[in-house]
Amino acid sequence: MGSVLVTGGAGYIGSHVMAVLAGQGRRCVCVDNFSNSSPEAVARVRSLAPGAIALYEADIRDLAALRAILAKEDCASVIHMAGLKAVGESVEFPERYHDNNVRGTQCLLEALHDSSVRRFVFSSSATVYGIPERVPLDETAPTRPQSPYGENKLEIEGVLAGLAAGDPAWRVINLRYFNPVGAHPSGTIGEDPSDIPNNLMPFVCQTAAGRRERLAIFGADYPTADGTCIRDYIHVMDLADGHVAALRALDSAADGEVMTVNLGTGRGVSVLELVNTFERVNGIRVPRVYSDRRPGDVPVCYADATRARRTMGWSARRTIEDMCRDAWRWQSRNPEGYATAS
Ligand code: NAD
Ligand code: UDP
Repeated sequence: MGSVLVTGGAGYIGSHVMAVLAGQGRRCVCVDNFSNSSPEAVARVRSLAPGAIALYEADIRDLAALRAILAKEDCASVIHMAGLKAVGESVEFPERYHDNNVRGTQCLLEALHDSSVRRFVFSSSATVYGIPERVPLDETAPTRPQSPYGENKLEIEGVLAGLAAGDPAWRVINLRYFNPVGAHPSGTIGEDPSDIPNNLMPFVCQTAAGRRERLAIFGADYPTADGTCIRDYIHVMDLADGHVAALRALDSAADGEVMTVNLGTGRGVSVLELVNTFERVNGIRVPRVYSDRRPGDVPVCYADATRARRTMGWSARRTIEDMCRDAWRWQSRNPEGYATAS
């Protein structure tokens, strides 16, 4: 069986995907420019599943580098996760995001064109749906991204559809992730934000650890049972399993097939529910304060996860308790993230 080319493999989701693949004996070829990650993440994955990862420091916009890697390695498929992902930053620097995310993907496709790789799994995002008209969101819901980042994801989905329409040797799955949280149960790898976290779970973890004074809960007056926003949090290990299921689904897909699949649990959890669960399962306080709504937040967003079950035989198994426990195990063992000595 050929190797899996994993772009962005040193990142939060990529490191977990590689841990699962390598754990199953699949060889990974990781390409990352470490713009938002550290080689230490890959070293840690190797400690979990020795020997199965080739690591290349390269930018996906470097065509010559990609061609050289593909000429050397025997890759059968690609999981494309490399990209910039900060929504707010994408509003500030839309050109930078387009260049890295969209042009980067086009460059990757150009390099793949000269190889035999024709199976493509893409890290898309539920953010392509924008403000939901109704929940749960299934894959036929209208797409109305609200940021350049979301537009990048939708544009790339379009590029991939065009590619498969023009050359039916390609088989593509777009995975639209909901809210990935948690960490590998060993506490060895996890999410390591380089800045003040924007996302809820890393902020909760850093507050529990005393790195932040208190968590601000953005809005308690939403039309939900407890007044806080509802999201579909999915354990990163379930998400990683979803990539393995996607590769399997591509094996039995028709040539030229392009599938778009939500990866979520199908269950909505409020901010308060998540924070209270975190305190309960970990026996630690998370000082919090209610503050104003965060501009742009939608009150309720969760997936209809039926298609993933039907087409890939995958559904999320881990609970919100697992997510909170595993996130805290990673945080408490690695208070400075990958800068912490292992
Ligand atoms: P991450 O930043 O931890 O990982 C992305 C990785 O890509 C990093 O290691 C970074 O160094 C690398 N990278 C970025 N630009 C690159 C380039 N030009 N060349 C080579 N490497 C490059 O982010 P993540 O949370 O692991 O997300 C992975 C993918 O999933 C991204 O495409 C992201 O948009 C998507 N996604 C993430 C979430 C989420 O909440 N984390 C939700 C939906 C979709
Ligand atoms: N949130 C919060 N405080 C924080 C970070 C996030 O109350 O410090 C809320 C946010 O308003 C949203 C939910 O937590 O309702 C999830 O936010 P996140 O940024 O993690 O995901 P997204 O909003 O992109 O789905």
